[in-house]
Amino acid sequence: MNNSFIDSLTCDFVRDLTPYESARRLFSGGNDWLNANESPFSNEYSLNTERFNRYPDCQPESVLRAYAKYAGLSKEQVLVSRGADEGIELLIRGFCNPGKDSILICPPTYGMYAISAQTFNVSVQKAPLNSDFSLDLAALEAIANSDNLPKLVFLCSPNNPTGTLIAQEQINAVLALFAGKSLVVVDEAYIEFSPQYNQTALLADNPHLVLLRTLSKAFALAGIRCGFTLASQDIIKVLLKVIAPYPVSDPVAQIAHQALSEKGVDLMQQQVSTIRFEQVWMKQALANMQGMEFQGSDKANFLLYRCQDKDALMQHLVQNGVLIRDQSKQILLGDCLRITIGSREENQRLLALIQQFFQEGQAA
Ligand SMILES: *Cc1c(COP(=O)(O)O)cnc(C)c1O
Repeated sequence: MNNSFIDSLTCDFVRDLTPYESARRLFSGGNDWLNANESPFSNEYSLNTERFNRYPDCQPESVLRAYAKYAGLSKEQVLVSRGADEGIELLIRGFCNPGKDSILICPPTYGMYAISAQTFNVSVQKAPLNSDFSLDLAALEAIANSDNLPKLVFLCSPNNPTGTLIAQEQINAVLALFAGKSLVVVDEAYIEFSPQYNQTALLADNPHLVLLRTLSKAFALAGIRCGFTLASQDIIKVLLKVIAPYPVSDPVAQIAHQALSEKGVDLMQQQVSTIRFEQVWMKQALANMQGMEFQGSDKANFLLYRCQDKDALMQHLVQNGVLIRDQSKQILLGDCLRITIGSREENQRLLALIQQFFQEGQAA
């Protein structure tokens, strides 16, 4: 059996895909993981094994209720899935006809919207951000008035990797432009770092609004794969048609329930404060560094810099066991590296290596 046989069987649109270069796939070594916007904290949970012989509920009630309470919504407006990434996939599978429909993204932004669309043969329209990372409303308006309407418009606020919020007037404008035309999906994966800017209040008056949330970032649970889609009951019903029968395992449901308890939310908020404090420290420490120019904003748990000798700097960091994320392939982000805020020790090691790199560079 040779490769060309398997190639000939593979879906046309899958053959040419390259898998998402997750931080995990890119590097397997290293000590300091500052490349995937994970939390530096790891918290304790207890497990009850009594029901592990049974299939779990598709949508565990206790988790739905806990998240609905946390978000200030009803549980009919909440879907729980294997991370926000599965929420993205379910939206594409539920609303986009393969080979016919499109989604709209505003790069530079999170890579999975486009990749998920491509794996289902759904095309991707782009309205790149302005140079200040605000939305290009004129471009969005042209698409909203074209005969090639996207089914889904993905916005990300705070945006990964620019750390910028989308101004409320701009979100309102996009909702108005696409009302009755497309779903507007606002990815709030980082909303706990800037909670006052959440869009849940708009769900009531915007039946075409969808929000994405996750336990992977502020809740420090990237390892359990748990995310949420918040939307009208009608939209949630469509997603429930395409979701797997048992997407959320019982251990995941138990841990998510504990993380969303009052105690769990308090702990998350304390840890967010610590990370925000560290972020200010890191940003100040890098403010006077020759060769590192801060980009975008600091509304999430990472910082973005345009770096001199970006490749050599990355190599210096990797060789010393510190991993950060190269974002330079994205539009507007030439030479840009993204730094996740870690523990004080991790941040200090990173800072020392950056200082060493530029001092040695100057001496040479
Ligand atoms: C990390 C991230 C996600 C994915 O979250 P998971 O719940 O871990 O799948 C979604 N959107 C953005 C913008 C992210 O940065």
